[in-house]
Amino acid sequence: MNKHIKNVKRYGTCSKDCYGSCVFMGEWNDQAPEKKLIIAKPLKNHPLTNGFFCPKLNHREELLYHPNRLKSALLRSSPKATNSFKPISLDHALNLISEKLTTVNNKFDPSSIVAAFYAGNSGLISQFSPNRFFGKLGATITTGGICNEAGNHALSQIFGNYSTTNPFQINNPNNKLIVIWGSNLSDRNNHAYFLVQRAIENGSTVVVVNPVKIKLAENAFLHLQPFPGTDYLIAKYIMNKIVLAEKYDIDFLTHHVDNYKKLLNEVQKIDESRIFHHTGLTRETLDAFVEILVRFKNKTLFIVGFGPQKYFYGGKNLKIIALIQVLLGNFGKQGSGFLFSQSGFNKEFTDSLMSYITLAHLYPPCNSIPLVTLGSSLDSDKFKMLFIYNLNPASSLPNQTILRNSLSRDDLFIVVLDMFLNETTKFADIIIPAKFDLECDDIIPPYFTPGLSINQGGPCPYPDCVSNYEFFQLLAKKKKWEGYKLFHETQEEIFERCVELLPKEAQKSLKLHGYYIPFGINDVPYKDLNFPTFNGKIQIQSSDLEIFDPELDFLLHRNQNEFYLLSPAHKYFIHSQLGEVHKEFENVFGKIFLNLYDIKSIGLEPNEKVLVSNKFNKAQFILDQNNDLKSGTALINSGLPFANSAYENVNFFTPEKPEESQLSGAYFSVIIKISKI
Ligand code: SF4
Repeated sequence: MNKHIKNVKRYGTCSKDCYGSCVFMGEWNDQAPEKKLIIAKPLKNHPLTNGFFCPKLNHREELLYHPNRLKSALLRSSPKATNSFKPISLDHALNLISEKLTTVNNKFDPSSIVAAFYAGNSGLISQFSPNRFFGKLGATITTGGICNEAGNHALSQIFGNYSTTNPFQINNPNNKLIVIWGSNLSDRNNHAYFLVQRAIENGSTVVVVNPVKIKLAENAFLHLQPFPGTDYLIAKYIMNKIVLAEKYDIDFLTHHVDNYKKLLNEVQKIDESRIFHHTGLTRETLDAFVEILVRFKNKTLFIVGFGPQKYFYGGKNLKIIALIQVLLGNFGKQGSGFLFSQSGFNKEFTDSLMSYITLAHLYPPCNSIPLVTLGSSLDSDKFKMLFIYNLNPASSLPNQTILRNSLSRDDLFIVVLDMFLNETTKFADIIIPAKFDLECDDIIPPYFTPGLSINQGGPCPYPDCVSNYEFFQLLAKKKKWEGYKLFHETQEEIFERCVELLPKEAQKSLKLHGYYIPFGINDVPYKDLNFPTFNGKIQIQSSDLEIFDPELDFLLHRNQNEFYLLSPAHKYFIHSQLGEVHKEFENVFGKIFLNLYDIKSIGLEPNEKVLVSNKFNKAQFILDQNNDLKSGTALINSGLPFANSAYENVNFFTPEKPEESQLSGAYFSVIIKISKI
């Protein structure tokens, strides 16, 4: 290397849909012919990144310049359902897509064109700037999501904001108890895991509630291992005991909670034996949990994962867990609170950024369809063209049979923007090679740490690779829309303008540090206990405690060879991503895990090939043992991150019916049967 060439330093943020949103300093050699990013160093001074990445993406430069990365546009060369394409120039691809748009637009309604996207790249410009194109077109766009939206919605109904605490409370010296409920921190949120370990060293006690014996359960004071989806029964039992013993925080309830008397009354009606039976927990375990919660009243923090809200009644499940903290008055105090998603604190900044990025006032509102039921929606002849970006639906959406049938329609023309071939590209007519997150200027809204961080885009060595915004700007040009204000700016200019829209303090912090956090380490959110509801009080409705039993009953009434099915992401993957850098774990996706007791009780042996079935699908898997699982629970890792795997995607077994808010998926409301072959 020429020693006179100086490396360029740029701030970057991992834009994967992950709790970390790790912030780093990238060192680039802009003159290098290909490998321009030399190294990404995680920031030591960021209070969540803490100087390390996770094992999923320790070496992002390997992914960035991976030999399989798409470098040119591709045109389908054989029928759908295979990844057979021939390369074409980007300009040719744009012409073909533009012609197709004109044909569809002339023959049908523009709303027959659909844009499907999610948070595969969580940058605000990456996700939402294409709305300018689809808004001008009058197309249909997807709404909602497949992750934590139901939970956010449910918590907002109680608190006026789904974010009520910041993660720095984990290490607040006042904290004495951390309840980790439905969250496998060591695998999914290893930066919070680090903070919790530090809290344990400093004297905090940990209680784990999880159907799986996660790593933190080993050192926990208590591990409650319930059947999946029965969280609300645990919460009702706990509240019942707290109320009967009059250990609730009456001062907090009187001054800050509407309808609290209803809560006190409602939780007195419980059927204990039903709770023990359905949760699979004993009175002793539940009472020990009650005892420690009471002991550390006002000093307890809950960290709740996204799992408990992935049921048909998931929002209510989450609400009832949160009501334990309400009953105990564990809000607005040092070292207490409820951590779920902290991006709700960003709304005051992101609303103005979103208006600018989408320029939504310049076109009528788009029609929309829920992302989670995309498969059924596309089954209709009404839709003729589909654009997919920041999303791998043929891996990550539920009920793959319905979805793939829809994507296979010959009269549905599909354009996919991606960096690699994957399951979804098998259904594409044209693929556009996408830029990696670090090659574009963007603003990232993390969801475990409140605030914002940035990507200062470095150069991309492949001339035909484009960002989402660049692609739709080029397509607008083909449609002779370049005169519209919507398509004037470059991505860099949109980014600059967004930064200027932020408060001065945020602008300064983003420029100096690459991130902005609107809290100091010792700040306690909602310290004044004035919540952003219509009257400043926490809102409780009596319906919050009602779960329509048949939704749970079908989970509870299983035959001997039927099991709850959990489908969490594997430690080395982010659901449908990162297959290129962790190929060595591929065989994990061919396995279904049960604990040894369950394997034996249905007369099978570990390593045996079995038939897994339910009303949605059947497929063969290898049976493997995982004694950390609750008896009665099976586990297959979530959506395959590979393009051509011999293994079946677990989402062939998951229900398309969403959580009751219709905002996200009910992936865990499912039972499967395991049979000998
Ligand atoms: S995947 Fe998550 S934890 Fe890993 S580097 Fe990216 S943001 Fe950080």
